[in-house]
Amino acid sequence: MALDFIREIVEDDLRSGRVAAVVTRFPPEPNGYLHIGHAKAICLDFGIALEYGGRCNLRFDDTNPVKEDIEYTRAIENDVRWLGFDWDDREYHASDYFEQLYRWGESLIERGLAFVDSCNADEIREMRGTLTEPGQESPHRNRSVEENLDLFRRMRAGEFPDGAHVLRAKIDMASPNINMRDPVLYRIRHGAHHRTGEAWSIYPMYDYAHPLSDAIEGITHSLCTLEYADHRPLYDWLVENCPVPARPRQYEFARLNLSYTVMSKRKLLRLVEEGHVRGWDDPRMPTIAGLRRRGMTPAAIRDFADRVGVAKRENMIDVALLEHCVRDDLNRTAPRVMGVLHPLRVVIENFAEGETEWFDTPNNPEDEGMGTRRVPFSREIYIERDDFMEEPPKKFFRLSPGREVRLRSAYFLTCTGVVKNDAGEIVELRATIDPTTRGGDAPDGRRPKATLHWVSAQHAIDCEVRLYDRLFKSENPEESGDFLADLNPESLQVITHAKLEPSVRDAAPMTKVQFERLGYFCVDPDSSGEAMVFNRTVTLKDTKKF
Ligand code: ATP
Ligand code: MG
Repeated sequence: MALDFIREIVEDDLRSGRVAAVVTRFPPEPNGYLHIGHAKAICLDFGIALEYGGRCNLRFDDTNPVKEDIEYTRAIENDVRWLGFDWDDREYHASDYFEQLYRWGESLIERGLAFVDSCNADEIREMRGTLTEPGQESPHRNRSVEENLDLFRRMRAGEFPDGAHVLRAKIDMASPNINMRDPVLYRIRHGAHHRTGEAWSIYPMYDYAHPLSDAIEGITHSLCTLEYADHRPLYDWLVENCPVPARPRQYEFARLNLSYTVMSKRKLLRLVEEGHVRGWDDPRMPTIAGLRRRGMTPAAIRDFADRVGVAKRENMIDVALLEHCVRDDLNRTAPRVMGVLHPLRVVIENFAEGETEWFDTPNNPEDEGMGTRRVPFSREIYIERDDFMEEPPKKFFRLSPGREVRLRSAYFLTCTGVVKNDAGEIVELRATIDPTTRGGDAPDGRRPKATLHWVSAQHAIDCEVRLYDRLFKSENPEESGDFLADLNPESLQVITHAKLEPSVRDAAPMTKVQFERLGYFCVDPDSSGEAMVFNRTVTLKDTKKF
C-alpha cells in the first residue's frame, strides 16, 4: 500500500537523519470525552510512533481552567488505553510547563517581541482588521520593556481582574495571516485550575502553549488537523523566538467527518446536558465511551482509522464503513447464540411434555476453535414473529401453515395450526417435528428453504434489548444550523421481553455475541443478575459494499 503523506515525511526525515527517532504526542484538552475523530488522531499519533520505533506522549492541553475537569482526564486516559495504546510514564500536562512558559513570556518581552495590552477583548477584535484589511496597532504596543515586565509580573501576581490586560506577541498587524497580527499569548483568569489550583492568575493561550510544549518534549512531528494550518506560521515564530531546546514541526491532516454524526465537543456536551442522550457513554454517541458501550471493539476502530487513511482535504466518511469494520471483527470473534426479539410461541404436539433434549451447536461456524455449546429443546419454543406468515406472499419462504422449515441445529418443523385471540391476532402456533431430522438434516436429503433460530420457552432468559439507529436523520446534521432539530426520534427502540438461550446467563457486561440472523449484541452494564440488558451493536448485513 502506498504511504500516506505524513508517513512519507516521517520516512524522509528518518532517512535523511533530520530526526534520529520520531516523537509524536496526542494533545487532548480535558474538556469533554474523546470521540471517533480523536480516535483517528490517536491511531495516527501512536500508530506512527509504534511503526517507526519512536514514542508518543499523552499530553493534556489544560490551559483553560474554567472548562477542564479531572473526570475528563480520567476518561481520556481510559479511552486511549482501551484503544490499545500506551504512553508508559510519558503523561504530561501543559500545566506542568506553566513556569517555563511564563519565563519565555518574560524573555519575549525582554527582547521586544511581546507587550502587555490593556485593550479589552472587544477592542482587540475591532482592531484586528479583516481578511482584506490590515489591523491597527494597539496604543499600548510601544510600552517600554520595563513597563511590560512590571505589568506582566503583576498580572501573574493576581493584581488585576479578568480581562484587564493580555500579553501579546509583537509581530505584524498588517500580516495577511490574521494569526500573526499580534496574537494574544496570555490572559488573566481567576479561578481554580484542576491541577494547579490557585497558583496562577494568568493562563497561556493554546497557540502559545502548544508549540512550546512540543519543543519541551522534543516532539519531532506535531500532527494536527487542517484548521491549524493557518496557525503554523505562529507555531514556527514561537519556536524560533523562544530559547527552546528543540525544533518541532507541525503537519496538518484532514479531520474525520462522519455521516449522520456530530463531532464537536460543544455539541456533544449539549446532547448530554440537555438529556437528548443518556450520557457521554450512550451507545448512540460517537464518543469512544459510547462506541465501547455499544459493543464496538478497539480492533474495529483501529481498522476503521486505517481504512479512512490520512488525507490533505476534508471529506465525509460514511458511518456505514465503521459498521462494516465492526461486523468484520465481530464475525470472527463473537460467539453465536440464539435469541428471539419478538417471540411467537410454538407448541410442538409430537414432543413429550416436560422433556428436554440438548443439542450441541458450534459457537462459530467460521472458527471451530471456538468450540460448541449445548442448547436445550422442549415442547414449547419461541420463534421470531416475522418468521411466520399465515398467508405468505410468493417470495416468503419461512414458516406458514403446512410448510416445513429447519430449526437451527435441531429438527425440521411443520406448522399444523394457528391459534388466535378474540381480536384475531395470532398468539400461538401448533407444529410437529420430524424426529428423523435430529441435528438438522433429513435422511432423505430434503432441504427446507429456510432455517430459523428459536429458543426453548421453558429455558429462555427473558431480557431487555436496546436497538439503536442513527442519532440524526440527515447525513450532515450540522448543515441546517440547528442540529438538535435533526435528532432522530427513533434512535432508540427498547424491547422488554426478548427471549435468549440460557447459555448467556451470567455473561459479564460488555460480552459480545451474535444473535443468529439478527446482528451483533453486547451485554450492557445496566444488566444486573437475572435482569439482563443487551445492546445491538450492528445488524448482520452491510447496506453497502466496501
Ligand atoms: P474542540 O471541539 O474543543 O475544538 P477538539 O476536537 O479540537 O476540540 P482536542 O482535545 O483539542 O479537541 O483534540 C485533540 C486532538 O485531536 C487535536 O490534535 C485535534 O486535531 C484532534 N482531533 C479533534 N477532532 C478530530 C477529528 N474530527 N478528526 C481527527 N482529529 C481530530
Ligand atoms: Mg482543540
